[in-house]
Amino acid sequence: MQKTTTENYCNDPFNRSRNVTNEIQVGNISIGGQSPIRIQSMTTADTMDTQMSVDESIRMIQEGCELVRLTAPSKKEAENLAEIKKRLLKEGYNTPLVADIHFTPNAAEIAAKHVEKVRVNPGNYADKKKFETIEYTDESYSEALNRIEEKFTPLVLLCKELGTAMRIGTNHGSLSDRILSRYGDTPNGMVESAMEFLRICFKNDFHNVVISMKASNTLVMVQAYRMLVSIMKEQGMSYPLHLGVTEAGDGEDGRIKSAVGIGALLEDGVGDTIRVSLTEKPEAEMPVARKLLEKFNPEVYTPFSINVNSNKLPYNPFYYKKRESNSVDNIGGQNVPVVFADLSKVKTIKPSHFFGFGLNYSVPLDKWNLTDLAADIVYIGEQQLNVKLPGTLKVLCSYSNWKKNFVKRPGFYPLVKKSEASLIKQNSVFFIKHNAEDSDTSYLTKFPNAIVVLDTQHSNKTQLYRHIHLSLAKNKLKNPVIICSQPAVEDPETFQLWAASDLGSLLIDGFGDGVWLRGNQTTQQINNTAFGVLQATRTRISKTEYISCPSCGRTLFDLQETTSKIRSKTAHLKGLKIGIMGCIVNGPGEMADADYGYVGTGPGKIHLYKEQIVVRKNIPEENAVDELIALIKENGDWTEPKTS
Ligand code: SF4
Repeated sequence: MQKTTTENYCNDPFNRSRNVTNEIQVGNISIGGQSPIRIQSMTTADTMDTQMSVDESIRMIQEGCELVRLTAPSKKEAENLAEIKKRLLKEGYNTPLVADIHFTPNAAEIAAKHVEKVRVNPGNYADKKKFETIEYTDESYSEALNRIEEKFTPLVLLCKELGTAMRIGTNHGSLSDRILSRYGDTPNGMVESAMEFLRICFKNDFHNVVISMKASNTLVMVQAYRMLVSIMKEQGMSYPLHLGVTEAGDGEDGRIKSAVGIGALLEDGVGDTIRVSLTEKPEAEMPVARKLLEKFNPEVYTPFSINVNSNKLPYNPFYYKKRESNSVDNIGGQNVPVVFADLSKVKTIKPSHFFGFGLNYSVPLDKWNLTDLAADIVYIGEQQLNVKLPGTLKVLCSYSNWKKNFVKRPGFYPLVKKSEASLIKQNSVFFIKHNAEDSDTSYLTKFPNAIVVLDTQHSNKTQLYRHIHLSLAKNKLKNPVIICSQPAVEDPETFQLWAASDLGSLLIDGFGDGVWLRGNQTTQQINNTAFGVLQATRTRISKTEYISCPSCGRTLFDLQETTSKIRSKTAHLKGLKIGIMGCIVNGPGEMADADYGYVGTGPGKIHLYKEQIVVRKNIPEENAVDELIALIKENGDWTEPKTS
């Protein structure tokens, strides 16, 4: 394995700066270098259905898709790309097309003649996937590499001759048995899988190449891209990167998960093209991608400039480890991150104000019911509180309000300014506001029980908070830290995307014992975003996770409808991961992380999986959701939904 150094995974972890890659040409657009970050997506139509593929491509292009990818599972689809290209040109659309290849080198060689870019998956281009663990000696491993070179070189030479670009697209879920045997199911294995192919391109002096390292798990995805950047830098390479989270799902969860993974890397200055992959119509992806990219528009970015004297990072960018903090009143330490509800702007606080924060009060029963998305702490600022609250909910208020009204009430805490900290009795628990532009945290040594609430109005929150992470580490401080975000946008979808991007990178780096989101959106939108970000970074699991593919020309059933049917019956199974995949070719590999899988095997036929093992085969589609539920019950993972 090549050398990686934690310091060179991006240009500057403390000041956002774009990692400038080689500029490559894909048809009439450039990718990398100083080119804008490109938006791309993939059709869901059968590539043999020329009219549907053309119509879908046009809808995507009209929404802002700059590269349209189509699946080419065999030679006939690869041939039909010529017809699709011709029709699009006739309609006045010269957007570059990309052929998506799995398993079929001869389809790739045909497609390379008709489209501007070919995407190959190094996990299955030359290696066959049999889910076997084979012990490789150095000799047998190097023989396997020679075989790859023999199969892959003709495509490289053809692309070089024709001026066709290539994406080496590694997927966490479809690593070859060979890579898995040697490197395991790791970011390291993903990087090596791409590097084996990249070295062949390099050897043949072919550089019109983009690389991707997609995964459904955002931690694995971010670590793999970071590791790739570091290794390429070590080797003097600088190929552009295409970013995406695979099988992100649909709706709010799909958007938040994509924004966490893609946003974390864009905060690092890494990424030249993106795909927000959703289990929805492909044209729905472009507006979401545009809203996310708007956050990285230099014109809306007002950073606070940070001078850092040390290049020693307080975290390992390639490996998740939570920052070590003390547990103060169940915040920090090994506790899951807490979620804040902000009611400081509400004049008269009533039980109904808590509804959006997952705390429901039943008047006839005179009882609180806490959902799985119940906030942990409410901030009331200067307001009065004449409501009897559930015992688990902590209350935070301004120092003056606390002093005057709540000093003796257990579960009530003051939020103090730095200048007020000395007014609090030593060793009592309190929250302290720390402005992230102030890099001096040494005063906290006197307050080991202070919970730090980190905030800033500047756009470079990720970098500023990271700088505080460094300062706390230098001063050997273990105070729990709450990270705040208040994206200055009105649109709820943009709010979700920007908040996920602000906080995702920090949580992936192990920083943050709680999140506090504020905005003009509804309390439910704010609360769902906070819990969604924690779920997407796997730091607090509060709901079922759906690993559903975005669908493509191989899809054998209506993914959107099936996902929503499965969701409606299983959404209460907190912590379970359910894979919903359109085809048997890539589905099982790509949902490798799931506890249960629902995979299309033929028209109207479904296989069900328990982890990676097929346990029910060829079930008629109309019975498959019920069979899935029966399977979950048999394995003891079912609970009945709560009735309230
Ligand atoms: S898993 Fe889904 S997106 Fe991937 S190839 Fe199969 S149908 Fe297409």
